[in-house]
Amino acid sequence: MQMGHYLPRGLPEALHGLASLALDLRWSWNHGADDLWQAVDPDLWRATANPWLILESVSDRRLDELTHDQTFLQALQRQLAAREEHFQAEAWFTSRYGATFSGQIAYFSMEFGLSESLPIYSGGLGVLAGDYLKTACDLDVPLVGIGLLYQQGYFRQALDAQGGQIEFYPYNDPTMLPVVPLRGDDGEWVHVRIELPGRTLSLRSWRAQVGRRTLLLLDSNTLLNGPGDRGITSELYGGGPELRLQQEMVLGIGGWRLLEQLGIDCPVCHLNEGHAALAILERARHFMRCTGESFRVALCATRAGNLFTTHTPVVAGFDRFPPRLFARYFQDYAAELGVPMEELLALGRCHAGDAGEAFNMAYLAVRGAAAVNGVSRLHGEVSRGILQSLFPRWPRHEVPVGHVSNGVHMPSWDSAAADALWTRACGKARWRGTLQKLEAALRQIEDEALWRFRMEGRQRLIVFLKERLVRQLRVRGASGEQAGEGAEVLEPDVLTLGFARRFAEYKRTNLLLQDPERLLRLLGHRDRPVQLVIAGKAHPQDREGKRLLRQWQDFFGRPELRGRVAFVEDYDLVVAGQLVQGVDVWINTPRRPWEASGTSGMKVLVNGGINLSELDGWWAEAYTPEVGWALGDSREHNDVAGWDRAEAEQLYQLLEQEVIPCFYRRDESGVPREWVGRMRESMVQLTMQYSSNRMLREYVEMHYIPLAEAYRRRTVKVANELHQWYGQLQQHWARMHFGNVVSNRTGSGYYFEVQVYLDDMPPQAVAVELYADSAPGRQPVKQALQRGEPLAVTATAYIYRGSVPADRPVEAYTARVVPLHAEAWVPLEANFILWHR
Ligand SMILES: *Cc1c(COP(=O)(O)O)cnc(C)c1O
Repeated sequence: MQMGHYLPRGLPEALHGLASLALDLRWSWNHGADDLWQAVDPDLWRATANPWLILESVSDRRLDELTHDQTFLQALQRQLAAREEHFQAEAWFTSRYGATFSGQIAYFSMEFGLSESLPIYSGGLGVLAGDYLKTACDLDVPLVGIGLLYQQGYFRQALDAQGGQIEFYPYNDPTMLPVVPLRGDDGEWVHVRIELPGRTLSLRSWRAQVGRRTLLLLDSNTLLNGPGDRGITSELYGGGPELRLQQEMVLGIGGWRLLEQLGIDCPVCHLNEGHAALAILERARHFMRCTGESFRVALCATRAGNLFTTHTPVVAGFDRFPPRLFARYFQDYAAELGVPMEELLALGRCHAGDAGEAFNMAYLAVRGAAAVNGVSRLHGEVSRGILQSLFPRWPRHEVPVGHVSNGVHMPSWDSAAADALWTRACGKARWRGTLQKLEAALRQIEDEALWRFRMEGRQRLIVFLKERLVRQLRVRGASGEQAGEGAEVLEPDVLTLGFARRFAEYKRTNLLLQDPERLLRLLGHRDRPVQLVIAGKAHPQDREGKRLLRQWQDFFGRPELRGRVAFVEDYDLVVAGQLVQGVDVWINTPRRPWEASGTSGMKVLVNGGINLSELDGWWAEAYTPEVGWALGDSREHNDVAGWDRAEAEQLYQLLEQEVIPCFYRRDESGVPREWVGRMRESMVQLTMQYSSNRMLREYVEMHYIPLAEAYRRRTVKVANELHQWYGQLQQHWARMHFGNVVSNRTGSGYYFEVQVYLDDMPPQAVAVELYADSAPGRQPVKQALQRGEPLAVTATAYIYRGSVPADRPVEAYTARVVPLHAEAWVPLEANFILWHR
């Protein structure tokens, strides 16, 4: 792939460096070059903050002037040198694994939220993926992103005069986006082709630069395709199941094909949510073509390098396709893989033979991965529950789903003031290594400095909000004067609560509205006032979400409020950035356990905001009383309406009795010491832990490195062995059974002798274990037994022996047989299990 200079237009030679700066989305978090763009075109810079757009728009005359501006040229050279230096500096991954790791990690995601200037995301999943790429740049993890370039992306929001949501789908003009066509070494624009029923779909490829990382994007809007197909990559999360399947084929199949076409060696393929699971099939298909092996062997060989991250807390959240639809699209593909359609469908089903069962992308992802993880500790647990059906009779805690808690890219979410504060305390390179020394440094900051920092953060938010509100009001038809008055609402010294999120039912965005009169009293209190800032979109087809939105708008219309509230339209990365930098308290009220992780609350940490949240997602593991406030009782509740009322009551009480008094309790110098103490603990204890730096290092250490090694070990020979092993398990499992099981008390333990009849299966293919469930105060026990001599009567039965501690009754133990192979993940790759009782 050509990575050299791309020139958008006839740039004078002295300014060529501007193109590489403008195309590098690193400007979305590193603001070193801001002055440069400001100098090129101050008006455009203020309006868009998008260097690429500035470069595409600025006049030739201005460019010519700049070539004679020595100050400008020197500043440009300095920025280019700084960028080069940044890329050359050793970062965590290179110093640790640089010498041993080869190839790239392919990171697939349906959306990427990197910057407003590249609007190809809708919400949390995309923002996470964007933060992930940026962190891969910081830590120099060799990772390449794969996604779709949407012509319209996700909708943009405005409100009408009645508070109803209006949706816009502005066209993404690729020449105005910071992406360039991906060209091969011969200069030809790289195209990828995939087969759809009766036709071939052509896909254009694009490249976005994220520091030293690359994001590859595909789109179908080329004249080579029919008019219907040109729109496949038009909208994000629009259309019905067929369009979704087409998009997921483009992402999974097209994406993997692109990597192969470019010759990028990817030992690890990371599926960020199930949307891209078809990459598993394409990876196996490619392996078949290279080696001539069967599909099953190829799947076995390649799955060793696949990682699946699930973000869904309920079964209904998985993408599922009607089997007829899937079969229509995969008829030829199945033939090419040499497997019957039923076998392909079975990969996406819980019950292989159930012809009515839909094709579930998460199931395919589990069946084609070597590791599966949820995105918070609680979500790991929840996911083990919802994926348990794929591992029948295995104890819930052994369902092979772990967790890596999400984190956010702090350099993208900190304010300029926060950046300065942290830099003074911890240095400039603080997010590029491990984070061990930061805590002590932060504890040195004085209360007064922290409080001043907080006050200024809130004040800047108010300035932003006023400008935004004037604009919103003008668009809705207010005169300049009316709009000015309408925006004279918020005050710089008032406790500011905020939240921004999707208006979806489970987010319970209206929990605070359960008792509107009480909320009014709270906001309008004369001595201890409170103000509230809200943003969020409802999915265009979500009527309940729209109802919640309107409920807030009705409330905002109450004259008694006298402007203690603001709703910011069109929640996006910019709005999110401003809110998390400015609010004092971030409120989150999802219905447990529906929030897989939630990341918006993590973004306030670095800026000194404090969380008040339901004990769900990340907060369920992060919360302690020193760092914030918690809602709920760490349990799920069936009486939804009743529990909502109870939690609303809890929320009002928390605000009235703890949060508000704490904020207004000042000492003689005007500093709320207790508040600042909580702020400091939240910053010190949580910022590093919920940074994407920690998250990505965990993915590398727990998954990427082990998977890459496993994948390299899984040669054709090993894959064939595993395939044969699996065949034996399949053949003999149903006829395997236990003989006598006896136990004796011996000193401090129980001694067991267990007879197992293996039905001709080689004994090294299985393990016999004693198992005891967890008991109050006790972990579950799993103890492998030693294989002894064969039983005299038959050569395929053995005695197994071993001891376990006698810290629980002997009946608590039971024997079981499970598959065993040094190179296999059990039960992920072989879910057989036989219990004695
Ligand atoms: C962080 C972020 C999200 C995710 O927020 P949660 O409600 O915590 O899931 C969604 N949208 C935008 C624009 C964000 O910045």
